[in-house]
Amino acid sequence: MTLAEQIDRTRIRIDAALTNSGRTDPVTLELAVKMRTPEICREAARCLSDLGLPVVLGHNRVQEAHATAEAIREVPGASIHLIGPLQSNKVNQALAFCDLIETVDSRDLVERLDRRCARGLPVLVQVNTSGEASKRGCRPEDVDSLIECVELAGNLRLEGFMTVGLHSDVEAEVRDSYARLREIRDRTAEQLVISESDLALSMGMSADLEWAIAEGATTVRVGTAVFGPRPASAPRHV
Ligand SMILES: *Cc1c(COP(=O)(O)O)cnc(C)c1O
Repeated sequence: MTLAEQIDRTRIRIDAALTNSGRTDPVTLELAVKMRTPEICREAARCLSDLGLPVVLGHNRVQEAHATAEAIREVPGASIHLIGPLQSNKVNQALAFCDLIETVDSRDLVERLDRRCARGLPVLVQVNTSGEASKRGCRPEDVDSLIECVELAGNLRLEGFMTVGLHSDVEAEVRDSYARLREIRDRTAEQLVISESDLALSMGMSADLEWAIAEGATTVRVGTAVFGPRPASAPRHV
Protein backbone atom coordinates (compact mmCIF):
# COMPACT_ATOMS: atom_id res chain seq x y z
CA MET A 1 0.00 0.00 0.00
CA THR A 2 1.28 3.50 -0.79
CA LEU A 3 1.87 6.17 1.81
CA ALA A 4 -1.14 8.10 0.49
CA GLU A 5 -3.33 5.03 0.93
CA GLN A 6 -2.06 4.43 4.47
CA ILE A 7 -2.74 8.05 5.39
CA ASP A 8 -6.22 7.85 3.90
CA ARG A 9 -6.93 4.66 5.83
CA THR A 10 -5.92 6.40 9.04
CA ARG A 11 -8.11 9.37 8.16
CA ILE A 12 -11.02 6.97 7.71
CA ARG A 13 -10.28 5.43 11.14
CA ILE A 14 -10.34 8.92 12.66
CA ASP A 15 -13.64 9.80 10.97
CA ALA A 16 -15.22 6.54 12.15
CA ALA A 17 -14.03 7.20 15.71
CA LEU A 18 -15.51 10.70 15.59
CA THR A 19 -18.84 9.34 14.38
CA ASN A 20 -18.87 6.63 17.06
CA SER A 21 -18.20 9.29 19.69
CA GLY A 22 -20.96 11.53 18.39
CA ARG A 23 -18.44 14.28 17.69
CA THR A 24 -18.60 16.72 14.80
CA ASP A 25 -15.47 18.77 15.56
CA PRO A 26 -12.29 17.97 13.62
CA VAL A 27 -9.28 15.90 14.74
CA THR A 28 -5.86 16.67 13.29
CA LEU A 29 -3.79 13.74 12.05
CA GLU A 30 -0.21 14.53 13.07
CA LEU A 31 2.33 12.17 11.52
CA ALA A 32 5.01 10.98 13.95
CA VAL A 33 8.07 10.77 11.70
CA LYS A 34 10.82 9.60 14.02
CA MET A 35 13.65 7.76 12.23
CA ARG A 36 12.15 8.52 8.80
CA THR A 37 14.27 9.96 5.99
CA PRO A 38 13.86 13.51 4.68
CA GLU A 39 12.42 12.06 1.44
CA ILE A 40 9.74 10.07 3.29
CA CYS A 41 8.92 13.09 5.47
CA ARG A 42 8.48 15.26 2.37
CA GLU A 43 6.32 12.65 0.66
CA ALA A 44 4.17 12.30 3.77
CA ALA A 45 3.74 16.08 3.93
CA ARG A 46 2.75 16.14 0.24
CA CYS A 47 0.19 13.38 0.80
CA LEU A 48 -1.44 15.26 3.67
CA SER A 49 -1.55 18.39 1.55
CA ASP A 50 -3.02 16.53 -1.46
CA LEU A 51 -5.74 15.10 0.78
CA GLY A 52 -6.57 18.63 1.90
CA LEU A 53 -5.50 17.85 5.48
CA PRO A 54 -3.44 20.10 7.75
CA VAL A 55 0.25 19.31 7.20
CA VAL A 56 1.56 18.53 10.69
CA LEU A 57 4.64 16.39 11.29
CA GLY A 58 5.93 15.53 14.76
CA HIS A 59 9.57 14.87 15.55
CA ASN A 60 10.98 13.21 18.64
CA ARG A 61 14.45 14.55 18.29
CA VAL A 62 15.65 18.03 17.53
CA GLN A 63 18.49 16.61 15.39
CA GLU A 64 15.96 14.83 13.18
CA ALA A 65 13.86 17.98 12.86
CA HIS A 66 17.03 19.74 11.75
CA ALA A 67 17.87 17.02 9.21
CA THR A 68 14.40 16.92 7.62
CA ALA A 69 13.13 20.50 7.97
CA GLU A 70 14.35 21.67 4.60
CA ALA A 71 12.61 18.80 2.77
CA ILE A 72 9.41 19.20 4.77
CA ARG A 73 9.25 22.96 4.19
CA GLU A 74 9.09 22.40 0.43
CA VAL A 75 5.43 21.66 1.12
CA PRO A 76 3.60 24.96 1.68
CA GLY A 77 1.97 25.34 5.08
CA ALA A 78 3.85 22.44 6.67
CA SER A 79 4.13 22.64 10.43
CA ILE A 80 6.86 20.84 12.39
CA HIS A 81 6.12 19.97 16.01
CA LEU A 82 8.51 18.66 18.64
CA ILE A 83 6.90 15.67 20.40
CA GLY A 84 9.98 14.33 22.18
CA PRO A 85 11.91 15.59 25.18
CA LEU A 86 13.73 18.93 24.77
CA GLN A 87 17.09 19.15 26.50
CA SER A 88 18.14 22.59 27.61
CA ASN A 89 21.19 22.65 25.35
CA LYS A 90 18.95 22.05 22.30
CA VAL A 91 16.54 24.94 22.86
CA ASN A 92 18.05 27.18 20.17
CA GLN A 93 18.02 24.38 17.59
CA ALA A 94 14.47 23.47 18.48
CA LEU A 95 13.39 27.07 18.01
CA ALA A 96 15.13 27.17 14.63
CA PHE A 97 13.41 24.07 13.23
CA CYS A 98 10.13 23.57 15.11
CA ASP A 99 6.92 25.57 14.91
CA LEU A 100 5.36 24.23 18.09
CA ILE A 101 6.76 22.48 21.17
CA GLU A 102 4.40 19.79 22.54
CA THR A 103 6.66 18.72 25.39
CA VAL A 104 6.84 21.64 27.80
CA ASP A 105 6.93 20.01 31.22
CA SER A 106 9.02 22.12 33.61
CA ARG A 107 9.41 25.70 34.79
CA ASP A 108 13.02 25.57 33.78
CA LEU A 109 12.10 24.76 30.17
CA VAL A 110 9.41 27.47 30.12
CA GLU A 111 11.96 30.04 31.27
CA ARG A 112 14.60 28.95 28.78
CA LEU A 113 12.15 29.01 25.87
CA ASP A 114 10.76 32.36 26.95
CA ARG A 115 14.21 33.93 27.05
CA ARG A 116 15.21 32.74 23.60
CA CYS A 117 12.11 32.75 21.43
CA ALA A 118 10.25 35.44 19.60
CA ARG A 119 6.85 36.49 20.86
CA GLY A 120 4.03 33.99 20.48
CA LEU A 121 5.72 30.57 20.40
CA PRO A 122 2.87 28.05 20.61
CA VAL A 123 3.39 25.33 23.21
CA LEU A 124 1.55 22.36 24.68
CA VAL A 125 2.09 21.35 28.28
CA GLN A 126 2.96 17.66 28.50
CA VAL A 127 1.39 15.84 31.43
CA ASN A 128 2.27 12.39 32.74
CA THR A 129 -1.30 11.14 33.05
CA SER A 130 -0.45 7.47 33.53
CA GLY A 131 1.92 7.83 36.47
CA GLU A 132 4.41 5.50 34.76
CA ALA A 133 7.96 6.27 35.83
CA SER A 134 9.17 5.84 32.24
CA LYS A 135 6.95 8.66 30.97
CA ARG A 136 7.89 12.30 30.64
CA GLY A 137 5.55 15.16 31.45
CA CYS A 138 4.74 17.14 34.54
CA ARG A 139 2.70 15.56 37.32
CA PRO A 140 -1.03 16.37 37.20
CA GLU A 141 -0.73 18.17 40.55
CA ASP A 142 1.95 20.47 39.12
CA VAL A 143 -0.05 21.56 36.07
CA ASP A 144 -1.57 24.67 37.64
CA SER A 145 1.73 26.19 38.67
CA LEU A 146 3.28 25.35 35.31
CA ILE A 147 0.38 27.02 33.48
CA GLU A 148 0.85 30.08 35.65
CA CYS A 149 4.49 30.11 34.64
CA VAL A 150 3.59 29.84 30.92
CA GLU A 151 1.07 32.65 31.27
CA LEU A 152 3.66 34.86 32.94
CA ALA A 153 6.20 34.10 30.21
CA GLY A 154 5.38 36.84 27.76
CA ASN A 155 6.67 35.01 24.68
CA LEU A 156 4.85 31.69 24.97
CA ARG A 157 1.29 30.97 23.88
CA LEU A 158 -0.48 28.07 25.59
CA GLU A 159 -2.22 26.03 22.86
CA GLY A 160 -3.20 23.05 24.97
CA PHE A 161 -1.99 19.77 26.43
CA MET A 162 -0.22 16.61 25.33
CA THR A 163 0.15 13.19 26.87
CA VAL A 164 1.45 9.74 26.01
CA GLY A 165 -1.24 7.35 27.22
CA LEU A 166 -0.80 4.38 29.48
CA HIS A 167 1.04 1.53 27.77
CA SER A 168 -1.65 -1.15 28.11
CA ASP A 169 -4.22 -3.15 26.15
CA VAL A 170 -6.90 -2.54 28.76
CA GLU A 171 -9.28 -0.02 27.24
CA ALA A 172 -10.67 1.35 30.51
CA GLU A 173 -7.20 2.02 31.93
CA VAL A 174 -5.89 3.69 28.80
CA ARG A 175 -9.02 5.82 28.52
CA ASP A 176 -8.62 6.87 32.16
CA SER A 177 -5.28 8.42 31.33
CA TYR A 178 -6.82 10.32 28.41
CA ALA A 179 -9.83 11.40 30.47
CA ARG A 180 -7.41 12.82 33.03
CA LEU A 181 -5.88 15.10 30.39
CA ARG A 182 -9.32 16.23 29.27
CA GLU A 183 -10.25 17.10 32.86
CA ILE A 184 -7.03 19.10 33.21
CA ARG A 185 -7.87 20.92 29.98
CA ASP A 186 -11.43 21.70 31.09
CA ARG A 187 -10.27 22.98 34.48
CA THR A 188 -7.57 25.13 32.89
CA ALA A 189 -10.02 26.65 30.40
CA GLU A 190 -12.28 27.57 33.30
CA GLN A 191 -9.42 29.14 35.23
CA LEU A 192 -8.24 31.14 32.22
CA VAL A 193 -11.84 32.06 31.32
CA ILE A 194 -11.48 30.77 27.77
CA SER A 195 -13.40 28.16 25.80
CA GLU A 196 -12.38 24.51 26.15
CA SER A 197 -12.17 24.39 22.36
CA ASP A 198 -9.34 26.94 22.53
CA LEU A 199 -7.06 24.33 24.12
CA ALA A 200 -5.89 21.34 22.08
CA LEU A 201 -5.61 17.79 23.38
CA SER A 202 -2.77 15.94 21.65
CA MET A 203 -3.26 12.30 22.63
CA GLY A 204 -3.63 8.90 21.00
CA MET A 205 -1.29 6.92 18.72
CA SER A 206 -1.54 4.12 16.14
CA ALA A 207 -2.79 1.51 18.59
CA ASP A 208 -5.31 3.53 20.55
CA LEU A 209 -6.42 6.58 18.58
CA GLU A 210 -10.09 5.49 18.80
CA TRP A 211 -9.94 5.51 22.61
CA ALA A 212 -8.26 8.92 22.63
CA ILE A 213 -10.85 10.38 20.27
CA ALA A 214 -13.63 8.98 22.46
CA GLU A 215 -12.04 10.95 25.34
CA GLY A 216 -11.81 14.18 23.35
CA ALA A 217 -8.47 14.16 21.49
CA THR A 218 -8.16 17.02 19.01
CA THR A 219 -4.84 15.78 17.60
CA VAL A 220 -3.67 12.18 17.29
CA ARG A 221 0.02 11.39 16.68
CA VAL A 222 0.38 8.44 14.35
CA GLY A 223 3.58 6.73 13.23
CA THR A 224 3.62 3.00 12.63
CA ALA A 225 0.03 2.76 11.31
CA VAL A 226 1.12 4.98 8.40
CA PHE A 227 4.81 4.22 7.92
CA GLY A 228 5.05 0.60 9.12
CA PRO A 229 7.34 -0.64 11.90
CA ARG A 230 10.22 1.54 13.01
CA PRO A 231 13.83 0.44 12.75
CA ALA A 232 14.75 -1.63 15.83
CA SER A 233 16.97 1.11 17.23
CA ALA A 234 14.15 3.66 17.42
CA PRO A 235 13.34 4.98 20.87
CA ARG A 236 10.02 4.01 22.43
CA HIS A 237 7.67 6.89 23.02
CA VAL A 238 8.30 8.52 26.35
C1 LIG B 1 6.43 7.54 18.14
C2 LIG B 1 5.48 8.44 18.82
C3 LIG B 1 4.13 8.47 18.45
C4 LIG B 1 3.55 7.55 17.39
O1 LIG B 1 3.51 6.24 17.86
P1 LIG B 1 2.99 5.04 16.92
O2 LIG B 1 2.69 3.96 17.88
O3 LIG B 1 4.10 4.75 16.00
O4 LIG B 1 1.80 5.55 16.21
C5 LIG B 1 3.32 9.37 19.10
N1 LIG B 1 3.78 10.19 20.07
C6 LIG B 1 5.06 10.17 20.46
C7 LIG B 1 5.50 11.09 21.53
C8 LIG B 1 5.95 9.28 19.85
O5 LIG B 1 7.21 9.26 20.27
